[in-house]
Amino acid sequence: MTQIEDNQPEIKDTPLVPIEKVVSLSKRRGFVFPNSEIYGGVAGIYDFGPLGVELRNNIKRYWWWSMVQNHDNVVGIDGATITHPRVWEASGHVENFVDRLVDCKKCKRRFRTDHLDPENLEQHKCPVCGGELTSEPRIFNLLMETYLGVVEGDRMKTYLRGEACQNIYLDYDNVVKSSRVQVPFGICQIGKAYRNEVTPGNFLFRQREFEQWDLQFFVHPSEMDKWYEYWKNLRFEWYKGILNHKDRLRFREHASDELAHYAKKAFDVEYQTVLGWQEWEGIHWRQDWDLTRHSEYSGQDLRYTDPLTKERYTPWIVETSGGVDRTFLNLLLDAYEEEPDPNGKEARTVLHLHPWLAPVKVAVLPLQKNKEELVSTAQSIHQNLRRYMVSQYDDVANIGRRYRRQDEIGTPFCVTIDFQTLDDQTVTVRERDGMTQIRLPISELTMYLLDRVTWK
Ligand code: ATP
Repeated sequence: MTQIEDNQPEIKDTPLVPIEKVVSLSKRRGFVFPNSEIYGGVAGIYDFGPLGVELRNNIKRYWWWSMVQNHDNVVGIDGATITHPRVWEASGHVENFVDRLVDCKKCKRRFRTDHLDPENLEQHKCPVCGGELTSEPRIFNLLMETYLGVVEGDRMKTYLRGEACQNIYLDYDNVVKSSRVQVPFGICQIGKAYRNEVTPGNFLFRQREFEQWDLQFFVHPSEMDKWYEYWKNLRFEWYKGILNHKDRLRFREHASDELAHYAKKAFDVEYQTVLGWQEWEGIHWRQDWDLTRHSEYSGQDLRYTDPLTKERYTPWIVETSGGVDRTFLNLLLDAYEEEPDPNGKEARTVLHLHPWLAPVKVAVLPLQKNKEELVSTAQSIHQNLRRYMVSQYDDVANIGRRYRRQDEIGTPFCVTIDFQTLDDQTVTVRERDGMTQIRLPISELTMYLLDRVTWK
């Protein structure tokens, strides 16, 4: 089994970054846009722009590599976002996937009862203005409804999936029969989920359409404890490995009254931002709940037969369920820094993103754009590099401004082609965080960069 290395060096302590800073950078530099903005937008729904899609793909690919490709006993699937409606009855979502909401009679704000301080809830007191809260919570189901079929009367009501992991239980038997996996083994998936959140907000933190990554790891009941601990620790180290502020990551164990009836324990991986300590991923003890329920509701026997002992049983499940969008947001909040200039000039905005995840890996910059030889050498270096990594060519504005542009989007390396290059075939490689510069022969450049921007 692989241990994820702690790859990101810790950086000096900096204040928690206001969300507005990353919202503004995201819009300005093309990471994230409000969905349907020209029509006024839709609360809790976002689109990812040119740099956002690169960052998001890198985050997802790294997760997939770590969880699926790097484990012999884990495979992946990609399920549809629409399923048979019975799935959501079996899962309990039709009945229980609800938010309880109270309103402040004075300031009209709405609060989820599970997010309120118990004292405020008991005293019906608004945590913002001190006004009176409504006493009876209103109940809302979060599932988004949709309809299959075109003929009125024959249309079937179903749901966009409220959590992505249900596909894994639905495909579990097909995977066992087609993939020669044996317990203990896992199935992973990255996919969209939809929730009619009653309090969407805080940018990507709570959306109505978002993406989750799940592992469901199937074990013999006697090995549940061992595997729970294994995945719990691995997931924590995984997040730690891509963060600058490692001290802002912690586990929160669920109290006994928060636990589902089948769960012996549950831990959230939490990250501290201006929003406080918030859930990033849940490590859940699901026991045999899901497979048993789907067996009951579908009438299919989903038990597993051990090929050696012939024991027939329903495997127990360790689940790790996290959010791609919360990862995206937390990484931006973790990476963003406005670094004061030592000479009192304009602060340097820099994204200290891990080089593995940065949307652009290298920028190739000819010192001057009106010198034909500098431009053609830079172009040929760029054409070669982009076969291996995302490379950007830029010859607009002075070199200092171009460095700043790349710092702001987290590009870990800039390669400058100057007059010395034409003489000795070497270039300057400037690194983002320390702004240190070294000189390298062009022939060594690709390997030098690949070694630093590719995960291993
Ligand atoms: P919360 O208590 O914050 O509503 P949850 O416990 O309902 O979250 P899960 O159902 O366990 O969340 O989902 C797994 C992961 O999916 C969460 O840890 C989070 O990273 C992500 N997630 C859940 N809801 C949202 C949302 N509305 N927007 C963005 N990400 C979400």
